[in-house]
Amino acid sequence: ALHNSLVELKGNIRVHCRIRPLLPFDHEFDDPALQNSPLSGKVVHALDDETVLVKCSRPGHPLVNKTYTFERVYGPAEPQDAVFADVRPLLTSLLDGYNVCIMAYGQTGSGKSYTMLGPQSKNHEALLLETRGDLGVIPKAAEELFRLISENPPQSPEVEVSIVEVYNNEVFDLLAKDISPAVPGAKRDVIAAKEGKKELFLPTSELVNSAAEFMRLVEAGLQLRVKHPTLVHADSSRSHLIITVTLPMATSPDSSGCPSDHTLDSMPTCHSPRRMVREKQRASSLDLPLGAGPGDSLAHLQQVRARLQLVDLAGSECAGMSGVTGPALREASWINRSLAALGDVLGALWEGRGHIPYRNSKLTHLLQDAIGGDAKLLVVLCVSPCQEHLVATLQSLSFGARAR
Ligand code: ADP
Repeated sequence: ALHNSLVELKGNIRVHCRIRPLLPFDHEFDDPALQNSPLSGKVVHALDDETVLVKCSRPGHPLVNKTYTFERVYGPAEPQDAVFADVRPLLTSLLDGYNVCIMAYGQTGSGKSYTMLGPQSKNHEALLLETRGDLGVIPKAAEELFRLISENPPQSPEVEVSIVEVYNNEVFDLLAKDISPAVPGAKRDVIAAKEGKKELFLPTSELVNSAAEFMRLVEAGLQLRVKHPTLVHADSSRSHLIITVTLPMATSPDSSGCPSDHTLDSMPTCHSPRRMVREKQRASSLDLPLGAGPGDSLAHLQQVRARLQLVDLAGSECAGMSGVTGPALREASWINRSLAALGDVLGALWEGRGHIPYRNSKLTHLLQDAIGGDAKLLVVLCVSPCQEHLVATLQSLSFGARAR
């Protein structure tokens, strides 16, 4: 039984690794001495589509010659579509009623935002209409999601979207309308999710019914995201971004295959037995229902609404490496703590432990429904190929190795 549950879990948590190309701002890019070295200035390579080789023998740097295997490794030349090809089946699972989470992990500058959104400082809504090839997971997933929904005609075309960021272990609502624009550290809409007090977490949620509308919301949310300059990177993301998409319930009794009188209370809907069992199991532990409105707690427990969470994690580099002090040090240590909590959750799931420590950070608490159980999680580890980022790269690779 343990073996079977491990096999199942393996299917539910996948860790992929993406190695970004050398880029003009990398020091090695224009250093001919490094480029002509046997490893062309790079220390991280895709050996094949499941293996990463880290090899560094330069004086003054950590001596490394190590391989890591993952379910999938994307080499530096692989396009956005290669990643999306692995995301697409998860969206089908979403419409089948599974919760799905897709997250990017890595140090600042390793390609997380590129992978999740696409090239930066562009208007993603415009991108959706124009250059398609560079789009990241989020806009492509939005398009695919609405396409899939349109193929299920009785299903309502509206999905509910909320966008929050976790910054210094506080949760900020990025769709709240009544807040003044970002002052780093200032409270925007504080969500009273005090541990142990069972207060409802109520981020603003908006209904959208097209990919373009969805991306407009994402753009608006991103405008408010905390950015704080550190010595490492002028514009590094110091917060975890979590976009939650809640699907409407299936509205066709036939589509879920259960008898038409099998409805709960007055809801004109039908639930597949699997969905109902899952929701009942969760109901007892569900004291932080994302997106539930006031007064609908009973309905919430009966409704089954599959949820997609798209997560762009804060940079995983260590505080010490950034050479930071003061508020930036506080940011970095919260980032480290929350990422460690994430690693602990994944490690506990992987080892099949009974107690999964979701409550150790707001990040894992918010992702509780999307990690573990029959939810499907894809972690994309983003790494730089450069020797100057070697320490952080090794840290990311071992994070991923531990999670699987
Ligand atoms: P992060 O979000 O991890 O801080 P970014 O996604 O902002 O990193 O990537 C850093 C820079 O590298 C950006 O200019 C981005 O466009 C570029 N970049 C990252 N990955 C790729 C890639 N696979 N192909 C081309 N450019 C990339």
